[in-house]
Amino acid sequence: MQDQFGRTIEYLRLSVTDRCNLRCRYCMPEEGVADLAHGDVLRYEEMLRVVAAACRLGIRKVRVTGGEPLVRRGIVNFIGQLAALPEKPEITLTTNGLLLAEQAEALKAAGLSRVNVSLDTMRPERFKELTLRPGLNQVLAGIQAAEGVGLLPIKINVIPFVDFNTDEIVDFARLTLEHPWDVRFIEFMPISSDLDYASRDGLSMAEVEARLRTLGELEALPYQRTSGPAHMYRLPGAKGRIGLIPSVSGHFCGDCNRLRVMADGRVRGCLFDNQETDLKPILRDGGDDQALEDLLLATACAKPEKHQIHDKDFTTPNRRMHGIGG
Ligand code: SAM
Ligand code: SF4
Repeated sequence: MQDQFGRTIEYLRLSVTDRCNLRCRYCMPEEGVADLAHGDVLRYEEMLRVVAAACRLGIRKVRVTGGEPLVRRGIVNFIGQLAALPEKPEITLTTNGLLLAEQAEALKAAGLSRVNVSLDTMRPERFKELTLRPGLNQVLAGIQAAEGVGLLPIKINVIPFVDFNTDEIVDFARLTLEHPWDVRFIEFMPISSDLDYASRDGLSMAEVEARLRTLGELEALPYQRTSGPAHMYRLPGAKGRIGLIPSVSGHFCGDCNRLRVMADGRVRGCLFDNQETDLKPILRDGGDDQALEDLLLATACAKPEKHQIHDKDFTTPNRRMHGIGG
């Protein structure tokens, strides 16, 4: 599946819920989100039909996300169904890790390949300040469990904020000395800007890199497609790798290979573009698989060439990040 700019679209991010068991202050309002009306959230069999159509069009990797995907009942079984599709897509998961320890083994057995765990601080009091919930130890146990069952390589995603976790950048990086993990720093993006925490400044990757250099020479690793937009590095003698993702300061739209399907059955060609197509009428009013494929293909073709974050009239997306899925 190619878009009008010749990019091959082969990666689908699938948000299975917009609900979450944390309240990261940059992502979700403290009171949570209103229940979507009954019937607004796609059933698993509807999601499976969408992913099957996308795989026939050339999707090779599906990342299950949310909200928090592990809070949706039946998620393990659903991941098993995705992994069993005839095209055998690679199935990965992005999670806050709270429920990972108890589900890691079943997820691996169902056919999940790998997990990304989002973790912005390793200090319990800061964890609670940011997410408005306790649970750091559960997340750390989840990472260990995922490693134990072979959901490898573990990727840990960190958003560095000025005056919050800047002093932990080196602590996160040091994890790669002992563990074969990818620790990836990601620039804070101008999304969910109605939330009070969004006025915090994120650190640029240039600033993160400057701090990392205090740990020694960073070896730049050759580009690998599996690393997506991350620039990968290794500290001397480290077992794991460090990734820097300049989601705001960088220009990686030229390599974008993604489509996003959200829990309410809408599909988006770009994180920052409000253009969405609703798949529900086809799914629920008797549309056939050809119609589904046509709509997915049309959305892929209509992907904008690049995001407009740096334009003076850029406006924040009309959905918060927990609704889009990251
Ligand atoms: N709940 C899961 C988790 O936290 O990993 C999956 C969904 S969450 C929306 C996916 C990712 O989006 C997380 O890594 C989170 O840190 C990131 N995220 C949320 N808001 C963001 C923002 N404004 N800029 C950059 N990343 C953001
Ligand atoms: Fe939940 Fe993930 Fe958003 Fe945090 S970043 S509130 S864990 S969806």
